[in-house]
Amino acid sequence: MDGLPVGPTPSPPVIKAGWLDKNPPQGSYIYQKRWVRLDTDHLRYFDSNKDAYSKRFVPVACISRVAAIGDQKFEVITNNRTFAFRAESDAERKEWMQALQQAVAEQRARARLSSAHPLGVQGSEPPDRAGSLELRGFKNKLYVAVVGDKVQLYKNLEEYHLGIGITFIDMSVGNVKEAADRRGFDLTTPYRIFRPWNALCALLSLHTCCSLCLGHLSTSSPGFLAESELEKEQWLEAMQRAIAEALSTWEVAERIWAMAPNRFCADCGAAQPDWASINLCVVICKRCAGEHRGLGAGISKVRSLKMDRKVWTETLIELFLQLGNAAGNRFWAANVPPSEALQPSSSPGARRCHLEAKYREGKYRRYHPLFGNQEELDKALCAAVTTSDLAETQALLGCGAGVNCFSGDPEVPTPLALAEQAGQTLQMEFLRNNRTTEVPRLDSVRPPEKHYSVVLPTVSHSGFLYKTASAGKLLQDRRAREEFSRRWCVLSDGVLSYYENERAVTPNGEIRASEIVCLAVPTPNTHGFEHTFEVYTEGERLYLFGLESAELAREWVKCIAKAFVPPPAEDLLARDFERLGRLPYKAGLSLQRAQEGWFALLGSELHAVFPEGPCEEPLQLRKLQELSVQGDSENQVLVLVERRRTLYIQGERRLDFTGWLGAIQKAAASSGDTLSEQQLGDSDIPVIVYRCVDYITQCGLTSEGIYRKCGQTSKTQRLLESLRLDARSVRLKEGEQHVDDVSSALKRFLRDLPDGLFTRVQRLAWLEASEIEDEEEKVSRYRELLVRLPPVNRATVKALISHLYCVQCFSDTNQMNTHNLAIVFGPTLFQTDGQDYKAGRVVEDLISHYVMVFSVDEEELRKQREEITAIVKMRVAGTASGTQHAGDFICTVYLEEKKAETEQHVKIPASMTAEELTLEILDRRNVGIREKDYWTCFEVNEREEAERPLHFAEKVLPILHGLGMDSYLVVKKHQSMEAMLLYLASHVGETKHGMMKFREDRSLLGLGLPSGGFHDRYFILNSSCLRLYKEVRSQRPWSGAPETSHRPEKEWPVRSLKIYLGVKKKLRPPTCWGFTVVHETEKHEKQQWYLCCETQMELREWFATFLFMQHDGLVWPSEPSRVSRAVPEVRLGSVSLIPLRGSENEMRRSVAAFTADPLSLLRNV
Ligand SMILES: [Zn+2]
Repeated sequence: MDGLPVGPTPSPPVIKAGWLDKNPPQGSYIYQKRWVRLDTDHLRYFDSNKDAYSKRFVPVACISRVAAIGDQKFEVITNNRTFAFRAESDAERKEWMQALQQAVAEQRARARLSSAHPLGVQGSEPPDRAGSLELRGFKNKLYVAVVGDKVQLYKNLEEYHLGIGITFIDMSVGNVKEAADRRGFDLTTPYRIFRPWNALCALLSLHTCCSLCLGHLSTSSPGFLAESELEKEQWLEAMQRAIAEALSTWEVAERIWAMAPNRFCADCGAAQPDWASINLCVVICKRCAGEHRGLGAGISKVRSLKMDRKVWTETLIELFLQLGNAAGNRFWAANVPPSEALQPSSSPGARRCHLEAKYREGKYRRYHPLFGNQEELDKALCAAVTTSDLAETQALLGCGAGVNCFSGDPEVPTPLALAEQAGQTLQMEFLRNNRTTEVPRLDSVRPPEKHYSVVLPTVSHSGFLYKTASAGKLLQDRRAREEFSRRWCVLSDGVLSYYENERAVTPNGEIRASEIVCLAVPTPNTHGFEHTFEVYTEGERLYLFGLESAELAREWVKCIAKAFVPPPAEDLLARDFERLGRLPYKAGLSLQRAQEGWFALLGSELHAVFPEGPCEEPLQLRKLQELSVQGDSENQVLVLVERRRTLYIQGERRLDFTGWLGAIQKAAASSGDTLSEQQLGDSDIPVIVYRCVDYITQCGLTSEGIYRKCGQTSKTQRLLESLRLDARSVRLKEGEQHVDDVSSALKRFLRDLPDGLFTRVQRLAWLEASEIEDEEEKVSRYRELLVRLPPVNRATVKALISHLYCVQCFSDTNQMNTHNLAIVFGPTLFQTDGQDYKAGRVVEDLISHYVMVFSVDEEELRKQREEITAIVKMRVAGTASGTQHAGDFICTVYLEEKKAETEQHVKIPASMTAEELTLEILDRRNVGIREKDYWTCFEVNEREEAERPLHFAEKVLPILHGLGMDSYLVVKKHQSMEAMLLYLASHVGETKHGMMKFREDRSLLGLGLPSGGFHDRYFILNSSCLRLYKEVRSQRPWSGAPETSHRPEKEWPVRSLKIYLGVKKKLRPPTCWGFTVVHETEKHEKQQWYLCCETQMELREWFATFLFMQHDGLVWPSEPSRVSRAVPEVRLGSVSLIPLRGSENEMRRSVAAFTADPLSLLRNV
């Protein structure tokens, strides 16, 4: 065994090479001079010794005999072909024959060792793709096979079966690219003259016409033509995979093969296995890997040794060296009857059977003495993980010990925690990889009927379907009718098989229901067939089927869905879904591990069935607060935030995840122009209305003639377009949008609603109601009518009137009283020309009787008033900041550092503390908090090059409103917190004093010129003040504190100081341990000082003391609670307005102009 090469042999050693005469085919007597080369794997001959590509290759494994014939000639005999060569001399012939015979013998020995595949069969590796390809410029087709890292060219299918080819291309030097035409692609290599084409010419034309062909080829780039565009894509993909394979490194494989048993597939014994199951901890061959994947990730997590490089951490490699195939098979294959053992040449069916029995049922495993006694198994596991006995852990888990069982100690509750405590990193790795592994069960029924231990219902269905070739990526383009082929399809026993016709015996292919991960129904007429459906499989293939009849298509979809959806999720089949399937997700409190859930997309609703817990309410995609994709391209996570719940869908499989992603994003967008088709907010109010109303509420309070004045047409139009497209993602910012543009956009939106806010059917009734003279009667009529409106309209009317009610509260400043608002909004909401007074009267009535019509209670009204008051105050206080976001007070917070990928948009309610914000960010990013991770929210001021960790109890909203243009918030670990806490714990003292370098900056916000440099000053910090003394007078030996000059030079109240770590470099701080002190006076005047310490420790001590003094000793929360917190509800608010000048008639005219032709304003832009 040790004699076998470790690692692959990309170019097998050449045994013998030289010139030989080869007799030409067709029995001609003219010998041709050929350069012949024999290596351990192939006998090849070339035109010359400089060629990279052969004219012919014969696998050594195919050679059955080598025989001498007549003068200096010998024959190489395969099952079907005989190749005759003539050497220069008898001696030379003898050498060749000996070399060949020895190569054959060695090849056979090797084949026997790896449990042998029968001679005469070409290499044991199955092709990734094989089929006919047209060679551009020639009529004949070649048979091409992509095998591992090589592309092999054969004259035809027959020769492919014989194993005798023309040449092969090592893809480490290959490159493929699409050609200009639809079906064409080029395979290029660095060899300028691509010789095989010459050889091909000879072969294909049968007559020697190389000169002609050479001429031909020199003018056109050699390339292939596939059958169809789709096929071309598949060829490109297969060849690119071959390149990836060729370029992949063997570093991991070689290290793992260092243990001899890992050099042969744990399941079938094939040599040089380059795949692995990372939870079972065995190394396997490619064929077995395919079957492992079919078992599902709950049984085996398959990774490549060569290509999944990120997976292979030092710990995992070490685990494979310690456990690996030796330990794995001692446990899993302790009792394999010889009749059930696998060979490298075993059929896929036999492989599937064996692997099902081995890993899913645990049929051959060595039973642990504690088998069957759950409690004892768990106990034993908890004990084993604290030792280095990995095999014991493997045996216990494989016999049913609970990987997440409770240890009995709340401090270290799980085996994983125990292993961590014991410092057993390999045990931890093993446990982690097996967190979701299913326990093997002997009683489990045979595979096709079940998935994840769930018995799938047996569904049978058959009929003709039109099918395209499967694809490895989403179908972007329309598939023409010609690309579909009619196939007889049979769904039975959990397998969907497709046949050439209804009488065919062997299927052209099959899809196992348990491998189906998603079923999607594109909208009719997406492709050449009116009705189509897509089937996605675990192996990342996408199958497209088409039918003429909607009924038949639906029937098929239902049957396939039934075949792959387990009973617990069958409620999802009740209605016509657009997409259905399983996806790994995280949700609720169990964010630690992903589970597989079943999802169905129906319109804008995402229905979900989770393995644990009660039936979930469907997610209203158009009502989501956030819909984003996070993570890198390898590990994408789709984050859906609905009120009070967040769902993370993981992109474990690329293909179906990408499909879901597009579908969910599309479903979450507005689907049309009507009110209920918009993205909706919490209380059924369209986000578009919510955004505008809130923006006006926040920023429009001081705007004169709000809602009367028109915005700039082009800006209004642009804004409305983006709001219509995806209102949720639009962040209205003061300074970027003028309130009049926003107010115009809102009016335009309402005016253009196809059915109007009060609906076409009920509009008249509203207008008539306004003519009722008795006020009480009128109000009750309005209430009646309100109930009749569709929910979204009702909610929107209420929100809008509530907003207008607030607007008129400010009429003495904005001049938009109820009457004026009614003149503007009447025609807008009732879509009249502005001359109908009744429309205005309805709006006026609704605003005047707002409290009664909408049953607004005292509390609600009070809150609303408070909110407006707060907003007005805030605006007066912070008008200059210009950074506040309107709407929800959405704030951008970064995680760890400022860059686009770490950006989080968070709603900041008035009550939110820095700690809550920090936890919210960590929650969203699913960052776990470990002990001594002092996650803190920092306010970073880029201009000052300083940052301030917010105290955990600080309210965020005021800080947000005070943030300058150069500042932002970031959540990161506070690296000094531990040192500071230690310092504070050991120094109970109430004061701190000492020398620091000091520099003053008296000017406002750093605008003034810096004066002078840093000077030594003496400071005393106590619970009330920070005092600065110019000089130290003398030293009092008994106190240790130097006596200072009598009066401090400066003195600041400690609680009104803000301390920022860092001093901007422009000021040339004398040390790098500086901080910036900002003092805001009662007149809102800001003063700054810069202080520098000699050491980092000193800086920490001063900073810690500041915190201690400012927050009564509570520097860090005693116990951060990580309970899932609902984000406090941000109420839809209220409004603002400002003076309107001009007569009522002027106003009516302007309104009429606006309403006369809704499009006039949007034209001529
Ligand atoms: Zn194998």
